[in-house]
Amino acid sequence: MSKTAIVIGAGFGGLALAIRLQSAGISTTIVEGRDKPGGRGYHWKREGFTFDAGPTVITDPDCLRELWGLSGSDMAQDVELMPVQPFYRLTWPDGSELDYTNDMDVLMAGISRFRPEDAEGYAKFLEYSAGVFEEGYVKLGHVPFLDFASMLKAAPALARYQAWRSVYSIVSSYVKDERLRQAFSFHTLLVGGDPTKTSSIYALIHKLEKDGGVWFARGGTNALIAGMVRHFERLGGTLRLDDPVTEIVTNGDRATGVVTRSGWRADADAVATNADIMHSYRDLLSGNARGKKAAKSLARKRFSPSLFVAHFGLKGDFPHIAHHSILFGPRYQGLLADIYDNGVLPEDFSLYLHHPSATDPGMAPPGHASFYALAPVAHMGKLPIDWAVEGPKFEKRILDVVGERCNIPDIHERVVVKFHYTPADFGHDLNAHLGSAFSLEPVLWQSAFFRTHNRDDVIGNLYFVGAGTHPGAGIPGVVGSAKATAGLMIDDLA
Ligand SMILES: Cc1cc2nc3c(=O)[nH]c(=O)nc-3n(C[C@H](O)[C@H](O)[C@H](O)COP(=O)(O)OP(=O)(O)OC[C@H]3O[C@@H](n4cnc5c(N)ncnc54)[C@H](O)[C@@H]3O)c2cc1C
Repeated sequence: MSKTAIVIGAGFGGLALAIRLQSAGISTTIVEGRDKPGGRGYHWKREGFTFDAGPTVITDPDCLRELWGLSGSDMAQDVELMPVQPFYRLTWPDGSELDYTNDMDVLMAGISRFRPEDAEGYAKFLEYSAGVFEEGYVKLGHVPFLDFASMLKAAPALARYQAWRSVYSIVSSYVKDERLRQAFSFHTLLVGGDPTKTSSIYALIHKLEKDGGVWFARGGTNALIAGMVRHFERLGGTLRLDDPVTEIVTNGDRATGVVTRSGWRADADAVATNADIMHSYRDLLSGNARGKKAAKSLARKRFSPSLFVAHFGLKGDFPHIAHHSILFGPRYQGLLADIYDNGVLPEDFSLYLHHPSATDPGMAPPGHASFYALAPVAHMGKLPIDWAVEGPKFEKRILDVVGERCNIPDIHERVVVKFHYTPADFGHDLNAHLGSAFSLEPVLWQSAFFRTHNRDDVIGNLYFVGAGTHPGAGIPGVVGSAKATAGLMIDDLA
């Protein structure tokens, strides 16, 4: 009889883990609370438009291809990845613009237009980024940090790269133009980190993007999720949807199975949870002393902010708008402080604008374009406002800014469909603690050993995977966490 495992949650991390387990011959069932898989990668189809809920920038495609390669399959059978160029178009309120790309000639010419001396500084920053990429991603990105000794082993590399400094501080030591400092530090926001506080190790994202490129799945990120599900089911795995787990059943220090809202019960040799870490400990393990203790400790940690996402489909084509744009606002550090520390709903924005029909016209009906505009906002622990009241006003302000900055003066008249997603939705739909979009904030003292361990310290056959565990949020991060967790589970179940 083969060993059995249950994975709670079908986010990128849960799916990647389940594929790894099933590929290793462990009979795996995923139990997902929502009606569709994907977690943060959920999606909606409305009036001919496709709207992906979350991740849109696919980096390190090899970490995904590996999931197919484990069983000798080819990802191309299920998913078509399309390259995106430029990676991002960065714009500022003063009208300046930089196309961020791995075409070094284009990028260096762009940097030189801002400040010629910064081209050399950027080249040096890239060397730094390559170093932290090797140490932080290649060597340690999929290694479970279960004990303090593992942290000590990583200490020399952390010291060498001055990991206590922030990405913004390191970037600032190489480039002097404030806009370029923003351009090369904002990436931590994509994994929930404040560039002025997140460890400089996260500068590795530059190297990751430069070498691996930026990609988009034809049909949207949801098509990638669907491809992962298809592959998992083809391997013999089972996905159970629309039935949230209400309890991880334990017997002393062993997990024995799960119970769901519908009353369905299943036993397994091992249980892994991809659900929010606080929800897993506090709610799903409420009957076990371990759950209470771990939840109490998590309550003292810093969680990443939330996001407000305005989805809209417009009449017309907008070839002047790149697939990925960052519309920096008038403030950077002040805005970050409002979001991360002060719990203020700011008057100004820095927006990420997603325009998928620029790469894949199938994301919108002919003659139309699909978009989402995303603004980081404080989580509900810091900003406990009524989003049902504030949401529509915030959405309007965001569309105003997009219209102004992207030269669509009649944006409101062009809207065919629109809706928004708020911190309250993250809490309600995903059981996200405080409505956080990225789980624990990726600061040094909440990273690696100091993050939720991939295997619980007390309940020996309970595992964690996803943004709250090592190495953290983002698709490459949670897919890396699945590799770390699968390694432990496959060894433990052997
Ligand atoms: C708007 C947005 C944009 C982003 N953009 C990017 C990007 O461009 N590139 C990138 O790499 N990353 C991006 N990220 C980050 C990335 O999407 C996430 O870090 C990653 O998808 C999280 O995956 P996860 O494995 O932690 O699982 P989640 O996506 O958090 O999934 C967890 C799953 O568990 C389920 N669940 C919860 N409770 C239960 C329960 N009791 N029973 C059963 N199931 C349960 C949930 O329904 C959910 O499906 C973005 C995130 C957001 C929110």
